[in-house]
Amino acid sequence: MKFIDLRSDTVTWPTPAMRTAMAAAEVGDDVYGDDPTLIELERLAAEIVGKEASLFVPSGTFGNQLALFTHCPRGSEVIIPEHNHIIQHEAGAAAIIAGVQFRTVATDHGILTASDVASRVRIGDDIHYPPTSLVCLENAHSSGRALTLAEMDGPVRVARGAGVPVHLDGARIFNAAAAIGADPREIAKRADSVMFCLSKGLCAPVGSILAGSSAFIAAARRKRKIMGGGLRQAGILGAAGIVALKDMRGRLADDHARAKSLARELEAIPGVKVDRAGLDINMVFFSVDPKPDPGRFQTAMLARGILVNPPEDGQLRYVTHYWIGDAQLPAIIDATRAALPA
Ligand SMILES: *Cc1c(COP(=O)(O)O)cnc(C)c1O
Repeated sequence: MKFIDLRSDTVTWPTPAMRTAMAAAEVGDDVYGDDPTLIELERLAAEIVGKEASLFVPSGTFGNQLALFTHCPRGSEVIIPEHNHIIQHEAGAAAIIAGVQFRTVATDHGILTASDVASRVRIGDDIHYPPTSLVCLENAHSSGRALTLAEMDGPVRVARGAGVPVHLDGARIFNAAAAIGADPREIAKRADSVMFCLSKGLCAPVGSILAGSSAFIAAARRKRKIMGGGLRQAGILGAAGIVALKDMRGRLADDHARAKSLARELEAIPGVKVDRAGLDINMVFFSVDPKPDPGRFQTAMLARGILVNPPEDGQLRYVTHYWIGDAQLPAIIDATRAALPA
């Protein structure tokens, strides 16, 4: 990469092995259901998260919104932590596509509790109430926290007791699995549907997966077509996804280790405070006192060949990924130190 790009793990270019696999991919027409590479990707993806079936979708946002569209009748209610991606970063799509109402919950790093769900779930015949149709969890949470299995268990138990399905936004499920030392199946088992991204730390150029029961995925396949997500020679993209799932999951712990070492070095800079509770995966969230001018900070980093996002909610975020090696860490720290007000 020309720049050291810390903006996100979505910036990852495909690896040489992916480009080779894409060029050689055997393809068909996936809307007719006969693209062999996509069939293999969807089989492999379902197996890795322990679900009956899965569906390739163009993006993580698409997969989440398709899950809501498939699970939830219009006008029903979804219980969800207020800082989840589905609310914060999907452009209000749920109001437009699924037509659901969100019942938001203020949480610590996306940790929804059993009582959060129990006190909000609405079932019964009262015509005033929108019926609860879904509970959403996110693991790893986009605040950098990986939820433990025990933390998932509470809200899942209450949802299941009420007959309400659970959707997991697992954009970074493999980061979560590495962070808590669990098989991704153990995480996915706690949800009826799970979305995960091939296009983040796993380096595939495009695509996410929605997985669930065979009946759920059959219904989602029709709704994916409604959303314009039926792709033809999608095996070209799926070939990179297969490499992502087979070869790229095992190295995510390296990204986590680099995020932790960046955090240690950043904490040594005066005024920097790292959010230690959100340091489970490949992201370092930190604030600086006094607050740097966002534009000036970005420009000063860029002048040293480093791309960063502007602060969000007063926090900066550095994300490690495949294209950030140990060799780049000192340059990141030196540039940050120089870019901050003395
Ligand atoms: C990135 C992300 C998504 C959406 O993925 P896109 O492919 O960017 O649409 C959804 N949920 C979480 C938690 C994410 O981090």
